[in-house]
Amino acid sequence: MHEMSLADGISRIIMAQAEEHGFSKVLTVRIEIGRLAHVDPDALAFCFGAVMKGTPAESAKLVIERADGLVWCLGCAEQVAINAWGDACPKCGSFDLKADGGDGMRILDLEVE
Ligand SMILES: [Zn+2]
Repeated sequence: MHEMSLADGISRIIMAQAEEHGFSKVLTVRIEIGRLAHVDPDALAFCFGAVMKGTPAESAKLVIERADGLVWCLGCAEQVAINAWGDACPKCGSFDLKADGGDGMRILDLEVE
């Protein structure tokens, strides 16, 4: 499952941070997912809970923020934001769009104690 590998990636980053900064408990994990990423937030939250069992982030709350779906419009030759694949460029109406950062995921911050 796609969400499981994402959760796994998040857990690896958190564990590396825990080792580096020596915190023992993670309260909140805030991540950002592009609107165009094929990720089900509920499934990701479920997988996150599963992979974090037995780690400092076992009871951490996962907060998911949706980032703008940024794509590159070949017609405008500039970056524009759409809400979902299948949408046209809001400026010129073209469907000649390619992914340009709107489908990624990153960790914004961790609240620890
Ligand atoms: Zn355009």
